[in-house]
Amino acid sequence: MQYEFKGTNVAGFEREVALSVSRSRRDFLRGAAHLALGSAMISASPMVRGESARKKRKVIVVTFGGGARDQETFAPEGQHNIPHMLNELAPQSTFFTHVTNQGILGHYVATASLTTGVYETLNNFSAVPPDHPTIFEYFRKELRRPSSDAWVVAPSNGFNRIGESDCKNFGPGTGATVILPKHLLSAAARGGTANLDHLLRDNYESPLFTPTLSGGEFQIQQLESILRLSVSDFMSHARTLSSPDELSLYIAMRLMQEEAPSLLWITMHDMDVAHSGAYSLYVEGIRRTDRLCGELWKAIQANPEYAGNTTLLILPDFGRDSDLDPGGNGFQHHRTGDIASRTTWMMALGAGVKQSVLYDSPVQSIDLVPTIGAMLGFSATQSNGKPIKELV
Ligand SMILES: [Zn+2]
Repeated sequence: MQYEFKGTNVAGFEREVALSVSRSRRDFLRGAAHLALGSAMISASPMVRGESARKKRKVIVVTFGGGARDQETFAPEGQHNIPHMLNELAPQSTFFTHVTNQGILGHYVATASLTTGVYETLNNFSAVPPDHPTIFEYFRKELRRPSSDAWVVAPSNGFNRIGESDCKNFGPGTGATVILPKHLLSAAARGGTANLDHLLRDNYESPLFTPTLSGGEFQIQQLESILRLSVSDFMSHARTLSSPDELSLYIAMRLMQEEAPSLLWITMHDMDVAHSGAYSLYVEGIRRTDRLCGELWKAIQANPEYAGNTTLLILPDFGRDSDLDPGGNGFQHHRTGDIASRTTWMMALGAGVKQSVLYDSPVQSIDLVPTIGAMLGFSATQSNGKPIKELV
């Protein structure tokens, strides 16, 4: 669905709703995390300019995914669910309160759109690659980076094709390797998955969707060769974890330790358990993802390969339906495509990013790829977004 800022009354109404969502978030963050409203004249920190700084620079993207609403996160009634993001991360961040997603609100297609900078229209429940080159392909091709420098850790087996398109001059072998921790775990368990069901549950919306895996996904043998992790150590650590997102973060941290990729993309998904209708599980998912974001930020600071030269970007794929929309069922789904669930946020921290500042001018989720391109020095030629000037 497209919405224009000018034209029909519907568009005018939607614009007002989007502005009101963004303003509420802005006012909440000014009070609760003491962020100051930034001036559009201020650009990113000059600390990261220059060729040598750019070569060392790393970017980690976390999709705070599965869809969360403000009333369970960045609002007075939701703030107790996100203590790490609100009290530890937000004060160190540049925070964008008005990020618009005009695309399809399905997790795979929305995340694919984030990786290409184009609103993709692929079938959300099919194992197909994005129709446009991904950030990983631009990054590796233009900067001549090896495959070890770009990785995706994804929660759902349906994300197995997200690492690369099949576009001319890009495509197979030129993008990111995708690690599917659940796929690895079920392969490692070799059918003995007793007591692991809580880590293996996949795709809360369509449990029948189980794609055949093929292409650039990570194979079980690489646990040992790349992550320096024996199958038995992996299994015994997995048994200490409580959710798929914890498993993903464990793998991502292992990857940071062993490969130190310059471009790492982690998609979170626990909170999408909301589709089951259990509000308490949805909120528990948000609290866990909040904690994992805090742990990741600490791991970045503790790793000499990452500390001081890494920019962390955290953003949701989209929101969820409002309690008031008669077309939806509240927090449970993201069916209505209403404007509130399309007006999300993004938090940027670390290298080149100003601290304790927020911006309420509208940006789009497809601006992410060209923005990272400007940070790292590649151009996302087919993206429809544009670099966010406050970050580059
Ligand atoms: Zn969902």
